[in-house]
Amino acid sequence: MTETAPLRPLPLPDDETRFFWDGTREHRFLMQFCADCKRFYHHPRPVCPGCLSSDMAPEELSGRGTVYTYTIAEQAFHPFFANRLPYTLIVVDLEEQPGLRFVSELVECSPDDVRVGMPVEVVWEHVTDEITLPLFKPAAVQA
Ligand SMILES: [Zn+2]
Repeated sequence: MTETAPLRPLPLPDDETRFFWDGTREHRFLMQFCADCKRFYHHPRPVCPGCLSSDMAPEELSGRGTVYTYTIAEQAFHPFFANRLPYTLIVVDLEEQPGLRFVSELVECSPDDVRVGMPVEVVWEHVTDEITLPLFKPAAVQA
C-alpha cells in the first residue's frame, strides 16, 4: 500500500464563483464590481448587497493590500495542513476600496514577522489544472 500526501481542500467553483477561479488560473485577481453604485463586492453573489442592482461584472484588482488582521494556526484541522504548521491566516484590506477584504494565507513570511498594516501582494499557488489559489506574501519594497 502506497501512502499519499493528503490533498489540500479545494473550492468547488459554481455558476456564481466560476469567474473568480477562471481569473486566478490566469493569475488575475477578479472581484465583482457594481456598475450602479461603483463599488467592488466579495464574495460573489447574484445581486449587489449595496444597492440590489444585478448590473455587476468582474473587474481586475491589483492584488495589493495591507494586513487587516491575522491569526497563527498552530493546530491542523485538516490533514493537509499538519506539516505546514504553524501557518498564518490573514484578512487583507485590498487597496482598491476601504473595507474591501479578502481572507487568505500569508506565505514567504515567518509567523513572528507578520504585523497588522504590513503591505502584502498576491502570489499564485497552482494546485490543480482547475484551481490556482490566491495567497499573499510580504510586498516587495518600493524603490
Ligand atoms: Zn450596487
